[in-house]
Amino acid sequence: MLGVAASKLGLECVFLDPAENPPAASTGRVIAAAFDDEMALAELADSCDVITYEFENVPVTAVRAIESKCPVFPPPQALEQAQDRLAEKQLFESLQIPIPGYRAIDSAIDLQQAVELLGLPLVVKMRRLGYDGKGQVMLRKKEDAANVFDALGSQDLIAEQFVQFDREVSAIGARSTSGNIVTYALSENEHRDGILRVSRALPEDEQLTPVADDFLHRLMTRLEYVGVLALELFVKGERLLANEFAPRVHNSGHWTIEGAETSQFENHVRAITGIPLADASVIDFPGMVNIIGSMPADLSVFNAANATIHDYGKKAIPGRKLGHATVIGSSIEDRDKRLQHLQDALSG
Ligand code: AMP
Repeated sequence: MLGVAASKLGLECVFLDPAENPPAASTGRVIAAAFDDEMALAELADSCDVITYEFENVPVTAVRAIESKCPVFPPPQALEQAQDRLAEKQLFESLQIPIPGYRAIDSAIDLQQAVELLGLPLVVKMRRLGYDGKGQVMLRKKEDAANVFDALGSQDLIAEQFVQFDREVSAIGARSTSGNIVTYALSENEHRDGILRVSRALPEDEQLTPVADDFLHRLMTRLEYVGVLALELFVKGERLLANEFAPRVHNSGHWTIEGAETSQFENHVRAITGIPLADASVIDFPGMVNIIGSMPADLSVFNAANATIHDYGKKAIPGRKLGHATVIGSSIEDRDKRLQHLQDALSG
């Protein structure tokens, strides 16, 4: 999707991807190698004027290795902070962005103290390399502490208060090299089994939007950020608590392709190449459903909901995101009816 946006701006892309025939191949040359392959990284740096990434588990060492040869955006320090949940939480705290109570865990005693200080249940997460709910377990009873360590190891963990949130939202913005910032309408996100299923734009939300925008501004300014950043938040009553940020374009912003004047992908490419950011205003009432595990045999379900389908051309694997479908409602009711139709058809 970044490649499509870059082509639209008349830019050429070269991709580094360990996958054999990745979706990106439809929009540019692919260097098929591991993210930390030194020769491949050197070839990438030689071929490009600027480099970006769209997966937060790209090794920071790989990004640092090429930044002396070619500019890399978002800045590697943002990737570094996002890869370590402890550093990420400390960053939020230093910016006075509210977060759930937490403790760093490196031993059984640490976990015991976390239970005493924070109460139960706790969500215990690996500090690094977790995504889509992987690398985390719930601790409901003190006696189950050993199971946590069996599942996650006993070090480099973090325990967080379990937030009985009302809903989850994400705030997405882009920052240019000159510090200009645009932000998108908030997305309300539904997860199941730790995987994003549905996102709905919230253009009508006047209460949370200014608070989330303020958090985004603080975060992107501190990180001297360039590109698109997504901040995931829990909504509890009238409060917003930050969960994590992703230094990249985000699944909950996929609706911006049809549902915003300029998509998150285009604004990311604009930001990193020095082209001025463009209008991020929302168009009517967009929503998006992820297509997970298998593509429906009968594609007419998408026509019936008047949806735009994006098929990533990936091999079907249970739990894998294979594509998404976007609807633009004329009202909230119209959008939600069509999203429900899509969800029913996809789960059927
Ligand atoms: P994460 O990998 O941190 O984004 O977590 C994946 C999902 O797990 C989130 O989108 C939430 O639905 C849930 N989750 C994570 N942390 C917490 C928490 N402290 N309290 C409640 N739910 C959580």
